[in-house]
Amino acid sequence: MPKPVPKLWSNWAGNQQCAPSSWERPASEADLVALVKESAAQDRRVKVVGAGHSFTGIACTDGALVDLADYGRVLDTDPATGRVTVQAGISLQRLCVELDRHGLALDNMGDIAYQSIAGATSTATHGTGAQHGGLATRIVGLRLVTADGSVLECNEQENADVLDVARVGLGALGILSTVTIAAVPAFRLHAIEEAMPVDDVLADFEGFMTSTDHVEFYWVPHTRWALTKRNTRTQDGARPRRRTQELMDDLIAPNLLFGLLCRVGRRFPRAIPRLAKALPSASSTVDYIDRSDKVFTSPRHVRFYEMEYAIPAEAVPEALNRVRTLVDRIGVPISFPVEVRVTAPDDIPLSTAHGRRTGYIAVHVYQGTKAYDQYFTGVEAIMDSYGGRPHWGKLHYQSAATLAGRYPRWDEFQAMRRRLDPEGRFANPYLDRVLGPSG
Ligand SMILES: Cc1cc2nc3c(=O)[nH]c(=O)nc-3n(C[C@H](O)[C@H](O)[C@H](O)COP(=O)(O)OP(=O)(O)OC[C@H]3O[C@@H](n4cnc5c(N)ncnc54)[C@H](O)[C@@H]3O)c2cc1C
Repeated sequence: MPKPVPKLWSNWAGNQQCAPSSWERPASEADLVALVKESAAQDRRVKVVGAGHSFTGIACTDGALVDLADYGRVLDTDPATGRVTVQAGISLQRLCVELDRHGLALDNMGDIAYQSIAGATSTATHGTGAQHGGLATRIVGLRLVTADGSVLECNEQENADVLDVARVGLGALGILSTVTIAAVPAFRLHAIEEAMPVDDVLADFEGFMTSTDHVEFYWVPHTRWALTKRNTRTQDGARPRRRTQELMDDLIAPNLLFGLLCRVGRRFPRAIPRLAKALPSASSTVDYIDRSDKVFTSPRHVRFYEMEYAIPAEAVPEALNRVRTLVDRIGVPISFPVEVRVTAPDDIPLSTAHGRRTGYIAVHVYQGTKAYDQYFTGVEAIMDSYGGRPHWGKLHYQSAATLAGRYPRWDEFQAMRRRLDPEGRFANPYLDRVLGPSG
């Protein structure tokens, strides 16, 4: 009899694959506890995957792969305090719909809503907004299944030290069973999207990024253009884009047309700079008002690989100019815009925004691009000179040795990991690399 071939798991970008020894689909916390105990008895590793939207191997395992697709209900909603408790597998998309039904919303969001809440907070997922933190800063409670199968209730009163660290836990401390989030009253965003000369944006970067609540821009490589997005919180009535306009803005322009640009660019790289120049001039100003999550996030149909670095916000203009010089110097045509965002500082040990007003610079290449190492290592070397912290779910070349000094509370995280997972039950090769071996 031929041996059965293990079923492969792959992430969204398709650049990470693994062959788990088993696929589990728990539907209750009791299932999670039983699974961890059974895995301990069999001495195999355990890894929860969220939506597989990390670009790194952070969710990979050769042990038990835990899929929380059947564990994503809202358990409790308190519109008075805005506190909402959910099972850890819920997607941000579904959560936003549920919150809206209760007149609530997430305070801030990144570009997409496909992620699970547990996966998103575990990697310090963030959006943009000089006065707003990442998703983890809004987590006020959780229940954590640890390596010995016990369940820790964590909130401001009970196990507050665990809550503090586990908000950005990289999946290394245990399985998040439930998450309690501090939502805010529902709000709308007034979006203005327009192309501007990138030098104008950088000339007063601080002023531009604080000009309203949520500001970001994309520099288009090989051009002097930035595609800017400024979202202002408002209670004004919705003035959504017409469905056809929405399809054009979200699907056709950035996805289909952009996908075409990438495919043509992959075949004929030298055409990229010319095609890129057409991108900003083809985009007209977009101005609309809609529910916050509909403005923060949009669909992504063109797949890519991404690296993102968090650096002190004030270093961004210089760092971005160095990336611009790098792109000119390496002479490799880059078809994807470089994204720039900011967030407020926070105090979470392994948050990329720990202790400093943070600027984020993200570089991307089209899925399947072979030779991107020179670009990504070049960008990483620039970010290293600012004490850059890589997004835990996006590509980078760092290790525990290079990262430890960039996080003032690194040792506290490691001590918590030794306490909760002394044998490395939740470890994998990525965690061994970026955190070192457990225990
Ligand atoms: C198209 C695209 C756009 C993106 N946009 C942004 C953005 O705007 N801002 C940003 O910051 N990031 C962004 N990301 C990155 C993404 O938010 C993170 O990688 C996030 O972790 C993905 O969530 P996920 O549910 O897919 O988790 P996965 O990638 O599946 O898992 C991430 C980690 O969480 C752990 N995990 C999942 N569930 C649990 C659980 N219940 N208990 C313990 N650990 C758990 C996993 O084990 C793993 O360690 C983007 C990614 C893509 C592909």
